[in-house]
Amino acid sequence: MTKKRPVRTCVACGMEGEKRTLVRVVRTPEGRVELDPTGRKNGRGAYVCSYDCLETALKKGRLEKALRVALGAEDKGRLREAGKLHFSGIRAGSQG
Ligand SMILES: [Zn+2]
Repeated sequence: MTKKRPVRTCVACGMEGEKRTLVRVVRTPEGRVELDPTGRKNGRGAYVCSYDCLETALKKGRLEKALRVALGAEDKGRLREAGKLHFSGIRAGSQG
């Protein structure tokens, strides 16, 4: 009867949440790693629940492990910027 909700786990803190509360980081088929707020891009994905966790995941290599990819300083900088925008946007005025 009850439909099973998609639950995702943050790669940094291990918090579980529904898909919409976590943000997806995707490794595209082209080998780029980017933020995927829609959760619809093709590729291997990993999830983080907050900007702090994105930061932790980058620092501890959790994203690299989860996505099986090596991230350069440039990639990490790009993800931080995208994450900052994304999570500040959520706080500013998300009504769902
Ligand atoms: Zn987390």
